[in-house]
Amino acid sequence: MAANGVNNIATTTSGTNAGGSVENDPLVLIPELSRLFYKNGWVTGTAGGISMRYQNQIYITPSSVQKERIKSTDLFIYNDNEEITYSPPLLKPSQCSPLFFLSHRFRNAGCCIHTHSQNAVLITLKYDKEFIVIDQEMIKGIIKGYDQPPQYYKNFEKLVIPIIDNHPEELDLKQPLYEAMEKYPETNAILVRRHGLFVWGPNWAKTKTMTECFDYLFEISLKMLALGIDPSIPVSNNSNK
Ligand SMILES: [Zn+2]
Repeated sequence: MAANGVNNIATTTSGTNAGGSVENDPLVLIPELSRLFYKNGWVTGTAGGISMRYQNQIYITPSSVQKERIKSTDLFIYNDNEEITYSPPLLKPSQCSPLFFLSHRFRNAGCCIHTHSQNAVLITLKYDKEFIVIDQEMIKGIIKGYDQPPQYYKNFEKLVIPIIDNHPEELDLKQPLYEAMEKYPETNAILVRRHGLFVWGPNWAKTKTMTECFDYLFEISLKMLALGIDPSIPVSNNSNK
């Protein structure tokens, strides 16, 4: 119920959830990370979004809001049945919400981040169904699958990220996103052609780390391709070394 949600936010003296810690509180973290991602150029033009699951509730950025100005009271809150428990006045839920729910439901994600990073968009123009990179140090920042405790890729391992085609409405990505999750059980990210990236992980910090590593890997791969070096081939085997 919206009124309960309003009370939930308004009655906490510190602005954080009762019983929770500031470090993990989505009401604090989502506005903070939104500002950071805006500065990165990942969520300009009100694009992109963040979803966090915390204390059996899911917090999601609203639709069409300036990401660098988001406040804790702008966030939609859902229960684990994906029903709205707090709806900010005058704001609409993000069209990404059903996409975020997929990560929470089928990957047990604590956080899902969606960016419109230019590096992510550009890399989808260079590959068809999969982006492949190998033998890069930053691959070590990527979690393989969703077992607990998390298993990380080795730097020399091949990292594959599926690419799905874009659709006119964000909501129309739900089925292809789900199918890609099913087909690639090891992946914690999906690229959307000419659109952006979805990344999920067990908590906000690991998901933020992975998003930064993915973006780095996209950027360096674009630079390698411009130099005629194939990012999917180990450097020792690369003819242009
Ligand atoms: Zn988007």
